[in-house]
Amino acid sequence: MTSAVIMLGPPGAGKGTQAVRLAVELGLPHVSTGDLFRENLSNETDLGKLAKTYMEAGKLVPDDVVIDMLFGRVAADDCNGGYLLDGFPRTVAQAEALSERLADGWTTRTLQLDVPDESLVERASGRLLCKDCGNIHHEKYKAPAAEGVCDACGGELYKRADDNAETVQERLAVYHNETKPLIQYYDERGTLDVVDGSRTPDEVFNDLRGLLSVSGAPGQEVT
Ligand code: AMP
Repeated sequence: MTSAVIMLGPPGAGKGTQAVRLAVELGLPHVSTGDLFRENLSNETDLGKLAKTYMEAGKLVPDDVVIDMLFGRVAADDCNGGYLLDGFPRTVAQAEALSERLADGWTTRTLQLDVPDESLVERASGRLLCKDCGNIHHEKYKAPAAEGVCDACGGELYKRADDNAETVQERLAVYHNETKPLIQYYDERGTLDVVDGSRTPDEVFNDLRGLLSVSGAPGQEVT
């Protein structure tokens, strides 16, 4: 059985941090639709230009655009053995399109990071991302040893344009309206596990790893 692992959760819940680590642990490609859009933005592609206004406003890029982009990415050979999705699906229409695509021979695992709304704005708006390795620091909770420099690889840290308090509020509202129904969607299909994301990153990671029954060897089948 080949597996698609879906990370669900509001902005600032730690999806990206956990997804990067879990993907390494599982030996699966980390497929982040937000990263794909940001790549398109920096390469100034037509797709990037289209996505820009939505992203800057904290709104969702239209479903057909996201679905096309995502399906193009997961058609690549490195995804044949499974993949870990971060930031997709975000609407019921996206989830339905994915379910249809994964109908034969695939298992789906959905991991929901549960974090109370009160802490999300502070968590998301303090984020610092590494330009080189994608590692995520936080101004307050995971400050880098040297200002502006990634602890993991020495790369330059930057703040996402949409990680300001106002846009995070909007992204949170969008999450509640459009993405939260996916918790019920996957629960009804019996693929949902909920993890308390308000603890330390290591504690959260250990829970996620336990749920996926990973012993630590990359490339291991997800059960
Ligand atoms: P993220 O890095 O996952 O927080 O995504 C950043 C932004 O990219 C979002 O606020 C949306 O504007 C856009 N985006 C990423 N993934 C999706 C998706 N699955 N559906 C619609 N828009 C998305």
